[in-house]
Order: sequence, then structure tokens, then C-alpha cells
Amino acid sequence: MTYLEFDGKELEVGKIVCLLRSYAAHAEEMGSKVLDKPDFFLKPPTTIIRDGENIIIPQESKEVHHEVELAVIIGKEGRFIPREDAMKHVLGYSILIDVTARDLQAQAKKEGRPWTIAKGFDTFAPMSKIIPKADINDPYELDIWLKVNGEYRQKSNTSLLLFKISEIIASISKVMTLEPGDIIATGTPEGVSPIKPGDKIEAGIDGLGVLNVGVRE
Ligand code: MG
Repeated sequence: MTYLEFDGKELEVGKIVCLLRSYAAHAEEMGSKVLDKPDFFLKPPTTIIRDGENIIIPQESKEVHHEVELAVIIGKEGRFIPREDAMKHVLGYSILIDVTARDLQAQAKKEGRPWTIAKGFDTFAPMSKIIPKADINDPYELDIWLKVNGEYRQKSNTSLLLFKISEIIASISKVMTLEPGDIIATGTPEGVSPIKPGDKIEAGIDGLGVLNVGVRE
């Protein structure tokens, strides 16, 4: 089981639901069109690592990318959650790096296969500690950034997120029950790029602190 700390207690992590193409500039850099409603895939909870730990580059991939994302942590179970009630299901927020084996993803896309392998290796979801929802005044005005070895690679703002969190929660819960400890990664802005063993990664979102992780073979 995977646990995250919240409010001095251990919170068991469930599924990680990840949005795709939720920032226009990232959709563009991937050569994809933006979507008119949220679409998503899953990462297993075994991808999670914490501040100070290392992303492990799998032997299967020659090109692993970072994707810094605002994560929403679910605190209350629900299915068919109406948009107007959606924020009642949010426990808090954190920084999540949706690490992606880009070469394996590109091959899977080409062949119409799922992204589970490209997105699902152990250590492919570094997360910062959970900050309570009440501590974030407006989740749509947060600077979001990521540096590799001290150099900015991603620098954006959550105002550019194409879907509101309430819409994302409503959409996901039409398909699957959201349970306490589930995590929603809301998608990445532009600037995704390769990482290699020895790199030092720093990722930040206003109000959520800074997440530091290393990279190794
Ligand atoms: Mg992503």
C-alpha cells in the first residue's frame, strides 16, 4: 500500500487519474488538438515517491520526460458528482510530476496501444506533501514551474488550465467512483523535456512549496 501524510495522519492512496491536453500550449507542443471535455488515464499508486527521493530511469526507455502538474487530492467518496458539489470532495492539493517515458508513449500512440507502460513505472509520480484546500485561496492563479539543474524548463500559471477542477471531478466521476485518497493530476503546461541520471529536479506551485527529486539509473 502507498500512503501520504495529511494532517499528521497516514492517508492511503487510491488511483491516480491524470488529465491530458489540459493546457493549450502543451497540446500544441505534442502536436495534439485540445479537447472539448476532460480526458484522462490512470497511473498506479506504486508510481509515487516523496520529496528527496529519486526517479529511476527504466532500462526500457531512452527518453524520459518531466511534466509538472497541480494535483487534487480527493477527501470524500462520490459517483456522478454534480459540478456544483465537486469542490466538497476535495481534501487538498499538491505538486505531482507526471514522469513519462516519451519514446514508449510515442510508439504506443502510433500503434494504438495504451500508455500504461509509458506512464506506470515505479517512481514515475513524485509528489509533495498535501496542503489543505482551505490554504489555497484560488487554485486558478498559481504559478507552476519546474527546473532541471537550476534551469527553468516549465513556467506557467494555472489560470491557463482549460478545465475547472469541478468539471474535471464531474467528468471522472461519471466513469468511476472517486474515493478518499484518490489523486487527480490536472495535466501539464508546456516545456516538457528529457531528464537523465544525475539531474536535480525542483518543481514548485504557489502555496504548495517546492518538491525536490533526483534522477538515477
Ligand atoms: Mg501529464
